[in-house]
Amino acid sequence: MPDINLTSAPQIKQLLAAHGLHPKKRLGQNFLIDRNVLDRIIDASGAGPGVNILEIGPGLGVVTRELAERGARVVCVEADCELEHVLRDVLAGLPNVDIVVSDVLRLKLADLLKEWGGGKWVVVGNLPYYITTPIITQMLEIREHVSAIVMMVQREVAARLQAVPHTSDYGSLSIFVQYYCRVESILKVSRNVFFPVPDVDSEVIKLVLRDTPAADVRDEELLFKIVRAAFGKRRKKLFNALSLSPELKWDKDQALNVLDKAGIDGNRRGETLSIEEFAQVANAASDVQE
Ligand code: SAM
Repeated sequence: MPDINLTSAPQIKQLLAAHGLHPKKRLGQNFLIDRNVLDRIIDASGAGPGVNILEIGPGLGVVTRELAERGARVVCVEADCELEHVLRDVLAGLPNVDIVVSDVLRLKLADLLKEWGGGKWVVVGNLPYYITTPIITQMLEIREHVSAIVMMVQREVAARLQAVPHTSDYGSLSIFVQYYCRVESILKVSRNVFFPVPDVDSEVIKLVLRDTPAADVRDEELLFKIVRAAFGKRRKKLFNALSLSPELKWDKDQALNVLDKAGIDGNRRGETLSIEEFAQVANAASDVQE
C-alpha cells in the first residue's frame, strides 16, 4: 500500500473501490490528484524534521504521507471514520504520524496540541469550503500554538483573505485575518486537479501568524464588533452603520463622538478604512467608555 501513487486518479479510484467507498459530497471529499500542487503545499508548509504539523482532513493521505516522509511530526484529523483503515494502510511504516478520527471543530485543540508535544504547529488543510471560515476562526483562537496555516480555499475566499480597502472583497474576514496574519498566495489551483471535480476553482493560501497584531488595539473584542458593524451595513455611511449595530448599541451621537475622537470622517464608508483606522476607532471607543 505505501507504494500506491495517490496523485493518480485511476489508482485512487481503485483504492476507494477496494474498500467499497465513494467520495462523500457531504464531507467535501474532492481528492487532490496533481503532483505539482502537492509539492507546492508541502514546500509552503516547511515540513521537515523538528516541525509539528496538524493536518485537517487528510482524506486518503496524499498530503499526509508526503509531510511525514519529509520528517515532520504529523497529527491528522479526519472526520470520516470510513477512511480510517485506508489512512492506516497508506501511512503504514511512518511512525511520525498519528491519526485522529473526529470532526476537528469538536476538538479542544489548545489542550490537545499541548498534549501532542507542545510548541508551535503548522496547520495544513485542503478542506470542504463550507468550513473554511469556522476553521480559520478556530485556528486564530488558538493562535499562541500556531505559527502558520497553509490552506486550500475557494478562489473567492482567497480574494477576501487578501483584500485591501476600497474593494468589494474587503470585509470582516479580511480584517480579522490580516490583523493576526500576513497572507500569502501560494498558487491558484484549477478545479481539474481534484477527483471528483468540484464546482469551484481554488487557491492555496498561507497565513503566517504575526508576532504582534497589525495594529495596536486595547480591546480586540470591541475592534471586531466595530468591524462587523461597519460591514454589516457596508453601503451606509460609517456613523450610520455603527449606530445600527445591535452589538454596539450606540446611538448616532455616540457613533459621531467616537469617530470624531478617532479623527475619522463619519461620512466615509467602512470599506474605505484600513486596519489601522479601525484600530483608531476602537481605541477612541475604549477611551469614551472608560
Ligand atoms: N487532504 C485530502 C486531499 O487533499 O486529497 C482530502 C481533501 S478533501 C477536499 C477534505 C477532507 O476533509 C475529506 O477527507 C473530509 O472527509 C474531511 N473533512 C470534512 N469535514 C471535516 C471536519 N469537520 N473535520 C475533519 N475532517 C473533515
